[in-house]
Amino acid sequence: MRVSRRRENEVRRRGVRRSLPVTKLYELVDSVNAHYAWMFHCPGCNSIHQCDTRWTFNGSQTAPTFRASILVHGAPDIGRPQCHSFVTDGRIEFLGDCTHALAGQTVDLPDWAAHHPDWVPGANGTAPRMP
Ligand SMILES: [Zn+2]
Repeated sequence: MRVSRRRENEVRRRGVRRSLPVTKLYELVDSVNAHYAWMFHCPGCNSIHQCDTRWTFNGSQTAPTFRASILVHGAPDIGRPQCHSFVTDGRIEFLGDCTHALAGQTVDLPDWAAHHPDWVPGANGTAPRMP
């Protein structure tokens, strides 16, 4: 049976989309490839935060939830704001004690690969590792 060009293109497009990792997290492993932490891109700090095994994790890389809250102390001397948040179902709620512009707001956690395209697992066969 002949498949229409439109259908063929649709399948191709969906296939490509499905094959791309759509994840908000990046798994950091240690020197023996064991899980160390989950990292995400924080849109408030425009930098990376990580949750190791001290946090609970719901297991979803597309709609992650971590508990307890994530507190990154500010370091004004190096331009790092204080950041205090809850990550719930793929969204990040910035608490009122943040010193960046998103304090008090809740926004979608961005897709990891959009900010860190070189850190996509399998892209170059290697992953960043803890020393
Ligand atoms: Zn942050």
